[in-house]
Amino acid sequence: LSGSSSVVQSSNRGSSGIFQRNLGRRRLRIVVTGGAGFVGSHLVDKLITRGDEVIVIDNFFTGRKDNLVHLFGNPRFELIRHDVVEPILLEVDQIYHLACPASPVHYKYNPVKTIKTNVMGTLNMLGLAKRVGARFLLTSTSEVYGDPLEHPQKETYWGNVNPIGERSCYDEGKRTAETLTMDYHRGAGVEVRIARIFNTYGPRMCLDDGRVVSNFVAQAIRKQPMTVYGDGKQTRSFQYVSDLVEGLVALMEGEHVGPFNLGNPGEFTMLELAEVVKAVIDPSATIEFRPNTADDPHKRKPDIARAKELLNWEPKISLKDGLPLMVSDFRNRILNEDEGKGL
Ligand code: NAD
Ligand code: UDP
Ligand code: UDP
Repeated sequence: LSGSSSVVQSSNRGSSGIFQRNLGRRRLRIVVTGGAGFVGSHLVDKLITRGDEVIVIDNFFTGRKDNLVHLFGNPRFELIRHDVVEPILLEVDQIYHLACPASPVHYKYNPVKTIKTNVMGTLNMLGLAKRVGARFLLTSTSEVYGDPLEHPQKETYWGNVNPIGERSCYDEGKRTAETLTMDYHRGAGVEVRIARIFNTYGPRMCLDDGRVVSNFVAQAIRKQPMTVYGDGKQTRSFQYVSDLVEGLVALMEGEHVGPFNLGNPGEFTMLELAEVVKAVIDPSATIEFRPNTADDPHKRKPDIARAKELLNWEPKISLKDGLPLMVSDFRNRILNEDEGKGL
């Protein structure tokens, strides 16, 4: 792998390096853009717990204060309502750049805004990283592989992406964000890291974001049929959020730029996923077929050999073990919603 053209060795420049491999290191100041969202809020919890200072930047498009409310009042935590499309001045050691709607329903809602977030937002955060010498991590996506012609997908695969489709604002947006990241690395010596995240689930996912795990779980709890799109034979690999957070931190602290696939290689058809949800939540749950969405990738499964070897990381939580961990969170929120409606 070390000879592979697209794993780039870090230049080890900047303020971090030695401090982060040493547990007795100084406290870091870390920005998490999109920190009020699903993945971001779990990452923030991890960084606060290990003793660092965290500044969240979020415009609350899909994020919620509820995801962070337990940290309000903590002197090491700060929340700024800000849109990353606009510049911002801060002094920090590390930037985890997550800000971007992640579910198809959300990123298609205003595609031009999605592109602006990916391009201008990433540019601003890279400009910030350059100015203050911070290390920058981009959360890219498995969608950069498009409807992949290589299976499972390795980081060396360049993808099969439609540049003019309904998903392009997201997948081409993230591809551009990766390009910007590498150009700031090569051109300005910014220390960067790129993660390509595969489908992730867990507590705090938006209830109605239209993603398959949140849909099936919410539908099973509400005693509604689970909506299977197309023939349900398309595949995805589902990663539990704590595994992803471990991977993101390992990547940020490690020596390699990436890109790295971060995902769980367990591969399921949507029909198989429905069976697991049924077994975990309600054996009497039913399914209902619906037409599939445009440009839906037929299969997706990460090859994580590179992350295993270079980051010493692999997911630990299987779908069967992870799903029950999000069910109580979903049950509580659905109950609260119903009470709010006076049901
Ligand atoms: P999310 O929608 O829960 O979180 C995204 C956060 O970014 C939200 O809090 C939102 O309010 C914020 N945001 C969006 N646009 C913004 C802007 N212009 N300025 C400031 N804040 C903005 O999504 P998530 O699942 O937590 O995803 C986090 C990151 O991980 C995203 O970059 C996404 O592309 C990437 N990712 C997630 C998955 C997944 O399965 N969840 C898979 C691949 C990649
Ligand atoms: N930027 C920012 N905060 C900073 C430094 C830069 O938001 O602390 C923004 C800046 O406004 C610009 C972008 O990041 O839009 C890229 O900055 P860079 O210095 O790389 O490029 P330039 O300003 O020369 O175009
Ligand atoms: N899907 C489904 N039922 C739903 C929502 C999604 O069968 O209620 C399918 C969708 O067609 C896709 C897969 O599940 O094939 C994953 O969709 P999701 O939106 O969760 O993620 P992505 O397409 O970004 O991987």
